[in-house]
Amino acid sequence: MKFWFRCRECGSRYDELHMLCPQCQNDPAFPPRGILETFIEDPGLTESWTPRDLLPLDSKYFPQVPVGNTALWEPERIRSQSGFSRLYLKDETQNPSESLKDRASFLVAAQARYYGFSKIVLASTGNAGSSMACIGAAAGLEVLLFLPESAPEAKLVQALQYGAEVRRVNGSYDDAYDASLEYCEKHAEKVLSRNTGHNPFTIEGKKTAALELVRELGNVDHLFVSVGDGVILSSLYKGFEDAIHFGLCEKMPCIYGVQAEGSSAIHRALEKGVFTAAQKSSTVADSISVDIPRAGMLALDKLQKHRGKTIVVSDKEILEAQWRLSSGSGLFGEPAAAAAYAGFEKIKDSLERTAVTVILITGSGLKDIRSAQEGVKP
Ligand SMILES: [Zn+2]
Repeated sequence: MKFWFRCRECGSRYDELHMLCPQCQNDPAFPPRGILETFIEDPGLTESWTPRDLLPLDSKYFPQVPVGNTALWEPERIRSQSGFSRLYLKDETQNPSESLKDRASFLVAAQARYYGFSKIVLASTGNAGSSMACIGAAAGLEVLLFLPESAPEAKLVQALQYGAEVRRVNGSYDDAYDASLEYCEKHAEKVLSRNTGHNPFTIEGKKTAALELVRELGNVDHLFVSVGDGVILSSLYKGFEDAIHFGLCEKMPCIYGVQAEGSSAIHRALEKGVFTAAQKSSTVADSISVDIPRAGMLALDKLQKHRGKTIVVSDKEILEAQWRLSSGSGLFGEPAAAAAYAGFEKIKDSLERTAVTVILITGSGLKDIRSAQEGVKP
């Protein structure tokens, strides 16, 4: 499979791997410029295509671990309560480390094999770290994880169980991110960065979630997803763009990026048309708590281009939605996953009830028990 990279900012094309476009300048107080997107030659798809046919690497590099092909729930009680007869929950908790992040880790592990790296480095709010540790364990790759002190214990224990080296960072996710970038720069020849947004293959891996929806549902009308760094949001757009480009579906769904009140940089940027200086984030939904959204520029671009929308929900709304989702469907998502459901609940009255509507449940509720306990009804 032939693939190349293109800078979303200046349009430069690269055949060799870069983390960000070397020609674009960055200001550390703002989301990075020069995020690279990956493009592939026409894969010559047949009727029996699979999402992995649209990945840039040959399957011989793929680790043998069951990532993706997650279930699409048809939650009968939520359907009848809400009146949305074609509502679906895409259950990403079924991935090996119980989050959607495995889709990116899977491709980054393949990328490490392709480029000849044996060590992968990243910062994480928790899910990406335990995910990379998991897939790294399966593939025999060393993983070094920079994790903020605030990360939920379950995600730390998960990463340690999988054998990753974990460095706790006394600070926020953004501090951990900076520490990991510094390490990657110092050891650039020897390590592959899986930092979200930076490594263009994280977007490629995650786009398979959108491609699975296309394969199962054809056209999707509305898609709800929680947003922190903006990588999953950008990846979903990339998946549907690829699907439309290669004739697999006709329309781009309306994608709703749901942010927590205390971490809503992309929402604010969409309202103003530009990013303003970073604000300190604070939300119960740790997976989407970021000061500077690392794929913010790309996410904003795609939201504007495809007329996507953003919704902001409070921590209270998130925890209540988490409980209603679990008790109403049987699917227990973590707070960030429940944020997407909270977003749906918030605006559902403005949508047509017969529309094909999907809510992406990005990670398991068991990853953060302490938050979930707060939302449990007596
Ligand atoms: Zn550039």
